[in-house]
Amino acid sequence: MRKNVVILGGGPGGLVAANILAKEAGDKLNITLVDKSPYHTFLPSLLWVMTGHRDPSDIKRPLRLLERKGVRFINDVVSAIDPEKSLVRLGGGEELRYDYLIVALGSQPRPDKLPGAEKSCAPWTEEGAIKCREKLRGFKGGTILVGPYSWPYKCPPAPFEVAFMVSYILEQRGIRGRARIGVFHQWKQPMEPFGPVMASSFKRFMDQYGIEFIGGVEVERIDDKSLVTKDGDRISADLPIVVPPHEPPDPVASSALASKETGGYMLVDKQTLRHPEYGNVFGVGDVIAPTLGIGMAGVFAHFQAEFVASQIIDEVKGAFMGEHYNMSGVCVLDMGYVGAAVYCDFSGKITGKAEFPDCVMLGGMRMFRAVKLAFEKYWLSRWF
Ligand SMILES: Cc1cc2nc3c(=O)[nH]c(=O)nc-3n(C[C@H](O)[C@H](O)[C@H](O)COP(=O)(O)OP(=O)(O)OC[C@H]3O[C@@H](n4cnc5c(N)ncnc54)[C@H](O)[C@@H]3O)c2cc1C
Repeated sequence: MRKNVVILGGGPGGLVAANILAKEAGDKLNITLVDKSPYHTFLPSLLWVMTGHRDPSDIKRPLRLLERKGVRFINDVVSAIDPEKSLVRLGGGEELRYDYLIVALGSQPRPDKLPGAEKSCAPWTEEGAIKCREKLRGFKGGTILVGPYSWPYKCPPAPFEVAFMVSYILEQRGIRGRARIGVFHQWKQPMEPFGPVMASSFKRFMDQYGIEFIGGVEVERIDDKSLVTKDGDRISADLPIVVPPHEPPDPVASSALASKETGGYMLVDKQTLRHPEYGNVFGVGDVIAPTLGIGMAGVFAHFQAEFVASQIIDEVKGAFMGEHYNMSGVCVLDMGYVGAAVYCDFSGKITGKAEFPDCVMLGGMRMFRAVKLAFEKYWLSRWF
């Protein structure tokens, strides 16, 4: 008798889990993946939509293609999760019963909840990336400030990456000297939660390219040509690039899977990634990042999905030597001039043995830009 696996979300977490389950145990499982979008979007490349290297259609693949691998794809909104009844309800009225549930619904950027969003842009959504491209098109000089409205948000180093890319574009236009570029943040130091090594590595790069860091800034709203902070200060910015607030997905926040401590993101056991009460429900990716105390990154979603799929395959096959939970991540940054890679091992942080992840920054070489370009190609062909 085949078991039903329902995967919620077709981002990196859901996509990787669906692929591995179909390949290794497709004969023992009915696999269904649900996403409100018909497409998987490779979000890191939104930065290249902003810089004109890519159009949105270049960085998407239809989730329907998973059906060739034996995965049923449903393009619908997940409206409710009932772990007591092992049931998921969809917006269109369908109900899905599961033996195993993988929740990979991510974290939702909400530009609609950013006060003054119309004066800003941020490449955290497709519309935001295109808006930034338009704003940069006519930019002739002045102050550009990049930073988040709140924490957590997807990809902690990305605001820094945006600042480096913008600096590069302005240099290419010959007007870098007419611009002041800075990163503002709630943190007192760049990449503060990642420890002192990261803070000093980022600072060094920022100094090298003349990018300021303005720490301890909590934005309340964006006004004309300025950021208004919660302390009532005004920081002038001709072009504010403000990462919108992020929220846990509604069907998780409103379900028994939510953790109160993380404001509605999903609760999981840190070793197994299963919900402590509902053992047939797993979480992967951004939806569990706050519970694990790590940043939101696709690389974590990918490794967690491999680990969760391995546990399910082990149970249905009798034994399966799959992937252990690799608690480390690499994030490659395109800084325009060069590329850099941040490598962090989070095992000490997740298990509560260390205050910070163990990180190194490798960088300052063109080669890392090539790695980033190659990875995008690999990603968009490997899983489809
Ligand atoms: C600009 C930018 C740059 C980044 N750069 C990097 C990088 O260099 N390296 C890195 O590792 N990470 C990077 N990231 C972060 C990375 O993209 C995310 O951490 C990753 O996508 C998380 O994967 P996920 O599967 O958990 O969730 P998501 O990718 O968010 O996928 C969740 C899916 O669930 C669907 N969904 C949500 N709610 C519902 C619902 N109610 N019903 C149906 N479907 C729903 C969504 O449509 C989505 O497809 C970047 C992100 C951004 C925005």
